[in-house]
Amino acid sequence: MRRRKFNWLRIGAIWIAGAAAILIVSFFVPTLQNASINMLFRLRGELPAPDDIVLVAIDDASLQRIGKYPWSRQITAEGLDKITAGEPKAVGLDIIYAEESEPEDDQHLAEAIGKNRRVVLPVQLFETESETVPGQTEIIWLLPLTEFGEVAAGKGHAHAAPDVDGTLRSIQLSKADDKGNRFWAFGLEILRVAEQISPGDFEENQGVLRFGTYAITLVRETAAAAETAEKIPGVTVVRSNEMLINYVGATKSFRQYSFADVLSGAVSPETFRDKIVLVGATSPTLGDIQVTPFMHYASEERQGGQAMPGVEVHANVINTIKSRIWLGFLPGFWNLALAFLIIPATTLAVKFLDGWRQIVAFAVILTAIVAGAIIAFNHYFLILPLPEMLTAFLAAVPLLLLDRSLAASRDLDAKLHMLSEVQKGFLLDENDKKDRQNRLGAIVPRNLEWKLEAVDDITARLLTRMSFINRVLSGMTDGVLVADTRNRIVFVNENFSRLALIEAKNLLGQDFIEFSVRRKIFSEKELRDTLESVLSGKNYETEFEIAAPQTKHFLIRFSPVTAGDDALSERFGFSTETPVIGILIMLADITEQRELDRLKAETLQLVSHELRSPLTSIQGLSDVLRKFPVSESESQEMLDTIHAEAVRLNEMISRFLDVKRLESGNQELQFSEIDVENLLAQSVSSISPTAAEKQIEIRHKTNSSLPVLRADSPLLAQAVVNLLSNAVKYSPTETFITVEALKADSELKIIIKDNGYGIPPESLERIFDKFYRLNRDETSETIGTGLGLSFVKEVAEKHGGRVSVESEENIGSTFTLHLPYRENLSHYENK
Ligand code: ADP
Repeated sequence: MRRRKFNWLRIGAIWIAGAAAILIVSFFVPTLQNASINMLFRLRGELPAPDDIVLVAIDDASLQRIGKYPWSRQITAEGLDKITAGEPKAVGLDIIYAEESEPEDDQHLAEAIGKNRRVVLPVQLFETESETVPGQTEIIWLLPLTEFGEVAAGKGHAHAAPDVDGTLRSIQLSKADDKGNRFWAFGLEILRVAEQISPGDFEENQGVLRFGTYAITLVRETAAAAETAEKIPGVTVVRSNEMLINYVGATKSFRQYSFADVLSGAVSPETFRDKIVLVGATSPTLGDIQVTPFMHYASEERQGGQAMPGVEVHANVINTIKSRIWLGFLPGFWNLALAFLIIPATTLAVKFLDGWRQIVAFAVILTAIVAGAIIAFNHYFLILPLPEMLTAFLAAVPLLLLDRSLAASRDLDAKLHMLSEVQKGFLLDENDKKDRQNRLGAIVPRNLEWKLEAVDDITARLLTRMSFINRVLSGMTDGVLVADTRNRIVFVNENFSRLALIEAKNLLGQDFIEFSVRRKIFSEKELRDTLESVLSGKNYETEFEIAAPQTKHFLIRFSPVTAGDDALSERFGFSTETPVIGILIMLADITEQRELDRLKAETLQLVSHELRSPLTSIQGLSDVLRKFPVSESESQEMLDTIHAEAVRLNEMISRFLDVKRLESGNQELQFSEIDVENLLAQSVSSISPTAAEKQIEIRHKTNSSLPVLRADSPLLAQAVVNLLSNAVKYSPTETFITVEALKADSELKIIIKDNGYGIPPESLERIFDKFYRLNRDETSETIGTGLGLSFVKEVAEKHGGRVSVESEENIGSTFTLHLPYRENLSHYENK
């Protein structure tokens, strides 16, 4: 937060700097404004030349044909008469007639002027000795001879004030001498006469001069103009009344006839009908020339090179007013505001864009500035502050980019520092430490390359660190899962997903509670309570078991994950409000441990209980035989019993070991493709003698459409024999047993059905437990260990199958071995 604020402070400073640059350019470098106006004129090009303003030029050709200037006024009078014949709207005779010449000539000219009735003559300011205050000069108007002045329709000042760069851009629409005698500009006066506007029909307002129907935009008096005005002694500016001239083009844009041609009659008087005619010197030798914005160094004569004769400037002034195309500026404040607007626009481009988008944005801003200025000039005769706008852009771009790069660099410093701190003391030997201190310890400013190298260095270290942690986590035999405070799973290691039989990527992002409840490991309420207490900082552990496909025992441990290193968090402003940031869940497979415990318990049971009774009876009987005289028949009986008990003892031990070997997985199964019918036949024949003793018939129903089964043949045969021998043992004499194999969906069933004593429902669950025998059989003559069925169960499971039983007391029992014969088997085999 603090950094952001600071950022805006710097941006503010940049804006102020930009604004200062704009003001400096605006007030102290007016040349730029002038140059931009020239550029706008040239970019616009020439306007169509108006055909109602015609020039009669005292040009080089005229001088050649008529003779050296000044001519006798008789000649001018003749020329004027020719023009008058065409009845023009007005004639501007841009020649000063302040002194008398031959009276006859003057007479002629006065007549010609009078005949025309619409001639306007120029007046000029003139410095002379004061008549009232001797020894002092004063400025007065240099008027035409009274005889001309009286017959002329009007008089206008022909004064032009170029800008500091020598270019004439504006004209003062009125001017006065020391005494306050005022004249309109020559061009304005000609237009007044041409349009017959009354001399009093004007109104001077702020920035606007209304003249007849024209409301001419006046421009502020620029520093340049004021300076120039001061340089011309005696020019009193009553009101600046300055109008920017919208030049039609470079010189010779107006229709122009040589005075000599007019005089000789080569130009028809009709040419001048209803036109405004301007007569004046265009020959450069006569000196009255002005530099215009169109003038520049170029090869084409029309476009550049040549300055413009004064008479043509007057033509441009008339055209500017007549066509109402005077130019204007925005009001001062808006000018600056418009320029200032560029800075925020540039700031946005720098702040929010990057790379090529930023360059495109810059190009768009620049184009908008230039195109805007051109469009405003060409279509609205408005001169936008182009230099100020460009200055704003050129000042803001480097400053903003520099600021950004400095901020990025400082940020980089801070991050480098933090990263190097975070790394400290992790898995590094002494050499490493020294090396890093050399590279990161010093706080002297470094260049960008150095920093980037340091970033590479730290990145490499962090990657090493990460892969180390990854290897540690995935190498753990325990499953590790991390959930965030909203119980979403954010990390699982390989072993967790292996133990949970689900791919890690499917677990990530899941809700841990949902997952566990779906897996029926915990009830939702129980788990929520547990997680809550863990989030409050407590550890918790519990055991659970999963039955399918094999019984597995798990220990699950929940512990809170805390925000960690206090020193670091304080230093770098990590939040310490919620120290618990997640929950670590460790899952350990404790099945083997549980198995071991069971083995211990069962072995203890075997030794302490099952082996004890036969040993006790052997001990007792042998004691009697040893100590007391016993009859031969009795002793034979006792020896038989001792032998039977020893056999039972032996059998019990070897069966126990068989089962244990299977359970522990120490005995590797030897799978081969076996013919089940064959296996059943062999098992039946091995049990037949025992069955025959009890006159029990074994009926083997053969089945020819059995699939090939992959199995461990001896083990499976042993299991079938166990089931057959049970059927015989627990059936009365003269009954029968059926044996058959059937093919079901994906399993093969071996069914052994007897018509014996059966098993009561409450014992059905328990008969597969080790050492379990029905009470009935425990006390009877039948020899048994209670281990046969657990062996059968183990063999079935080792084949990926199971054993099931259905039984009814005194009716009979049916034991079924379910053995998978397809994918399941091979899946199992691979394990
Ligand atoms: P045992 O060595 O006693 O036969 P088993 O594990 O094979 O041990 O059988 C456990 C007990 O289940 C037997 O003691 C007997 O009580 C009962 N049992 C097994 N098979 C049958 C059967 N076919 N009919 C009735 N009871 C049976």
